[in-house]
Amino acid sequence: MKRIVILRLGHRPERDKRITTHVALTARAFGAEGILLASNDPSITRSVTQLCQRWGGEFYIRNDVKWKTEIKKWKSEGGKVCHLSMYGINLPDAVPSIRECEKLMIVVGAEKVPFEVYELADWNVAVGNQPHSEVAAVAVTLDRIAEDEPLESEFKDAQLHVVPMDRGKKVIENP
Ligand code: SAM
Repeated sequence: MKRIVILRLGHRPERDKRITTHVALTARAFGAEGILLASNDPSITRSVTQLCQRWGGEFYIRNDVKWKTEIKKWKSEGGKVCHLSMYGINLPDAVPSIRECEKLMIVVGAEKVPFEVYELADWNVAVGNQPHSEVAAVAVTLDRIAEDEPLESEFKDAQLHVVPMDRGKKVIENP
């Protein structure tokens, strides 16, 4: 099973809380092992950790990392880095080589991404060459590179489980 971690750059606590939380939840739901936040916003860490406690799994979040240190460390340990940017090569062209790597860091920005990220990345990948959202970019990338089922429906030690149904909503809570 491929190890995938998301590195979130440029999060601005005063305006990006909701979108960064959604990047984290999307990453978790689509099979990443964790997210590194290259800004200091403990409220994101708290809300993601609380959700993980209720909905299960081993997804982690690390607050206030140094992005360059994390990228260099990941690469020195044999990992590869895929930076998502509308200026990159198109995702279908990169998928075959990305699938070959066992340890993948996916970098997403918020405001302007430093050029050094483009240089350090093994792939600068566009999910189409139009501007959209980091949430969409992460979701589509994780879905396209998944070889098995990308959407995990059961997470380890979950307190809450959804019972899928045609209509209506049913959630059961473990005793
Ligand atoms: N203005 C910023 C820049 O030029 O670097 C981009 C801001 S965009 C709202 C935030 C992030 O979403 C980007 O850094 C990128 O990671 C991701 N993103 C947006 N559109 C994308 C696309 N078409 N392909 C891949 N990633 C995309």
